[in-house]
Amino acid sequence: MNKSADVIVIGSGIGGLTAAALLQERGISTLVFEKNRVPGGSCSSFQREGYCFDAGASVFYGFGENDKSGTLNLHTRIFRKLGIEVPTIHDPVQIHYHLPNGFTVPASYDRQKFLDALISRFPHEREGIGKFYRELDDVYDILSSLPAGSLEDIVHLATVGSTYPVKTMALALKTFRSMGKTARRYIHDEELLHFIDIEAYSWAVQDAIATPLVNAGICLADRHYGGINYPVGGSGAIPRALCKSIEQSGGRICYQSEVSSILVENGEARGVKLADGQEHYAKAVISNATVWDTFNRLINDSRYKVDESKFLRAPSWFQLYLGVDASVIPEGFYVHHILVDDWSNYNKPGGTIYFSAPTMLDPSLAPPGKHIVHAFVTSEVDLWEQHDKGNGEYRHAKEAFADSIIARTESILPGLSKAIELKILATPLTHQRYLNRFKGSYGPLLKPGQNILQKPQNTTRVKNLFAAGDSTFPGQGVIAVTYSGVSCASYIARQFGKPLDELK
Ligand SMILES: Cc1cc2nc3c(=O)[nH]c(=O)nc-3n(C[C@H](O)[C@H](O)[C@H](O)COP(=O)(O)OP(=O)(O)OC[C@H]3O[C@@H](n4cnc5c(N)ncnc54)[C@H](O)[C@@H]3O)c2cc1C
Repeated sequence: MNKSADVIVIGSGIGGLTAAALLQERGISTLVFEKNRVPGGSCSSFQREGYCFDAGASVFYGFGENDKSGTLNLHTRIFRKLGIEVPTIHDPVQIHYHLPNGFTVPASYDRQKFLDALISRFPHEREGIGKFYRELDDVYDILSSLPAGSLEDIVHLATVGSTYPVKTMALALKTFRSMGKTARRYIHDEELLHFIDIEAYSWAVQDAIATPLVNAGICLADRHYGGINYPVGGSGAIPRALCKSIEQSGGRICYQSEVSSILVENGEARGVKLADGQEHYAKAVISNATVWDTFNRLINDSRYKVDESKFLRAPSWFQLYLGVDASVIPEGFYVHHILVDDWSNYNKPGGTIYFSAPTMLDPSLAPPGKHIVHAFVTSEVDLWEQHDKGNGEYRHAKEAFADSIIARTESILPGLSKAIELKILATPLTHQRYLNRFKGSYGPLLKPGQNILQKPQNTTRVKNLFAAGDSTFPGQGVIAVTYSGVSCASYIARQFGKPLDELK
């Protein structure tokens, strides 16, 4: 068998690319196969008529740099290690929330400003607010002091456990706790508890009770330390930088190259077969596809099938990519927004509108005098499969649904519908097709009460087949899948006898 590389990576999402870049930098050769023309998956950019849209992600953690920014800063540390620069623009507000009963609050970088804004709405909860958000800071503080590595790597675990015994034990205990239950220890006001729910839902697509405290401690504390920073040129700048590093150090990325199956012999991954019939072999394979796609589609062996009921499947998305006249965006408008009209359906399909205007930070993403508005809501593939594509029904349904989202968004941006000059709509079917994701899902979620450590790690039941991306620990989000890429690479590198250096 001719070996194409030491490690083959299926998919150029951030999880797969991070693993490939770190392995390649360590001298372990990598070959990435990506079905699309551009890298990045849900964190890619695409161009239309002079606009550069973020396909999905646009709120970015992990780029902190100064001494106030804490120590997580995984992107900064990875790009420093790879010798690649990714310039970013600081975003002073993570999300501006627009909630029922006229309740609005910006989640400012300045922690005290954010807490003061909450306290001014809920003065009777001053003490509870302080105690709850301090719990999140405590988690952040522990995580900040521990080096990134694989939880399956005994050497890494033993080193961390013996160097930081108290913090490791404290963290282990916190993995059993839920964000929502912790909030309820300190907070009783129903509206404030709804706010805690939307704080979780904004990135976890689950309410606070179902969200592990440890995950919340990363996202909702780090926004005040490392902060939110937007890459110049849009989300695609992150995967492009990872690809540049892979290629500069001798790795290869093949675009428009869909993997149709993983070659498994006697319980061991040997390589991959592409849709055009080519076969490539390697010592190890990393799948950046979802857990369902990897085991129920790419591996044709019923022994490895993953039962759908094993995880909750997060919904997919309906997205609007709008090019708008700049006059519709008021001066001082924040970049990221969440809009809930009614608490009774914020977590139902379409209940919460997420929208962002990244051109507020990087005007080069749109033609002069224009802005981007990227709006999206949760939705399901099944709702869109019912519509006939042949007779215009699907297109009409898309337009009608988009109009309803635009009309709701007008409560924040009056005149939006009249300011649109370019409108691109993507349903869950687009998401499924473009990203090869089962039912276009945002990924598997833990069931309420499950411990975060029950998320699949990087090793799988197939020898030498590894997983990276949002189906693995710690979960969804660009910084989370970056962590999964780091832990995957560090596990494989140690297996290859070339352990990774600690990221500094
Ligand atoms: C609408 C939306 C908004 C989001 N907003 C944010 C945000 O603001 N901040 C944030 O941090 N996160 C956000 N996220 C989540 C974040 O983007 C994802 O969790 C993360 O990017 C997923 O990375 P991944 O490594 O799992 O791979 P993916 O992004 O899923 O990419 C996988 C890649 O593999 C390729 N692939 C799959 N199968 C094959 C195959 N068989 N052969 C070849 N190639 C294959 C796909 O084409 C794709 O390029 C958002 C996601 C969405 C959808």
